[in-house]
Amino acid sequence: MIPFNKPPYTGKEQQYVIAAMQSSNMSGDGPFSKKCQAWFEQRLGAPKTLLTPSCTAALEMAAILIDIQPGDEVIMPSYTFVSTANAFALRGAKVVFVDIRSDTMNIDETKIEAAITDKTKAIVPVHYAGVGCEMDTIMAIAERHGLFVVEDAAQGMMSSYKGRALGSIGHLGAFSFHETKNYTSGGEGGLLIINDSRFKERAEIIREKGTNRSQFFRGMVDKYSWVDIGSSFLPSELQAAYLWGQLEKAEEINDFRLSAWQYYMDKLAPLATAGKIQLATVPEQCQHNAHMFYLKVTGLTERGQLLAYLKTKNILAVFHYVPLHTAKAGSNFGRFHGEDRYTSKDSACLIRLPMFYGISKDDLKHVVENIFLFYKVNK
Ligand SMILES: *Cc1c(COP(=O)(O)O)cnc(C)c1O
Repeated sequence: MIPFNKPPYTGKEQQYVIAAMQSSNMSGDGPFSKKCQAWFEQRLGAPKTLLTPSCTAALEMAAILIDIQPGDEVIMPSYTFVSTANAFALRGAKVVFVDIRSDTMNIDETKIEAAITDKTKAIVPVHYAGVGCEMDTIMAIAERHGLFVVEDAAQGMMSSYKGRALGSIGHLGAFSFHETKNYTSGGEGGLLIINDSRFKERAEIIREKGTNRSQFFRGMVDKYSWVDIGSSFLPSELQAAYLWGQLEKAEEINDFRLSAWQYYMDKLAPLATAGKIQLATVPEQCQHNAHMFYLKVTGLTERGQLLAYLKTKNILAVFHYVPLHTAKAGSNFGRFHGEDRYTSKDSACLIRLPMFYGISKDDLKHVVENIFLFYKVNK
């Protein structure tokens, strides 16, 4: 079976994880965590980054940092992972979903302004498949209305928009190092990116269970105590050590994925030209990271048929997301503003092909050939 995903592994992780184990310093913010954070700060040009146990946790921190209160509204796409919405619902916010664009599956920036009310506090663009949202427009809207922008850049590591790293454009950003993402910190992990320096100090406090422990370690206060709400938002050193093994090979992993992605794109292009499938669009101003290779078929039935067909050929392709506004919690905690023109329709057509660091040329070829066969036999 060609798996849908294999967690990236470079060979260096093992050595670093063992080093962390032997250092007697396995809790958070040890040497490997500091190295990773410095790498991200440099790479992203962000004043501060903090490793977290997950992107979910980073988004939850962001919701606390921008002081989301019950009744506040937060605008985001419905076509996203539950954590994007949950982080804000947990703080009592009402989630306001707007439609996506069909070409990138990203939030339709032209639909945002109409969804703003006097309760709106933030916009949360999700960079789907590591392809940037229209950030200039989104930042301008936020500025006009005094709103925060929290980028869900879970899938966007190594991607950029107009030369700026995804996650580094809004006030705050969040990455994921879950094993299904381009880089992993041993299965679970994330990063909070603080671009607005106002949040630096409070972010450290929230992450350290609401204490000023970080300031204590820097010698800024003579004892540490409980100063704010917070939780345990630190990953272990073992996770940071694992991640460091991947960051050292960040470019190599990225190049590999991009070439696999391009192979699919080139080979499947004739099917798109023939009108059988629709392929992703990467706008000119976006450099992507080949997080995902997806295609869109004509509907739910055909999607089921193609997935089942590929399974008989030992290929595991998958789909996601069920739009959040159609889910039980989505209607409890949110509402859809405006017309659902593409969210439901396009999400029902989408298929993700096997894509991971190390996927062989033979496997890529096998996937492409069988998609062609499916259309020959069935259409
Ligand atoms: C993966 C993902 C998340 C959650 O990441 P975790 O690290 O698993 O918490 C959130 N948002 C999006 C868009 C994702 O793809």
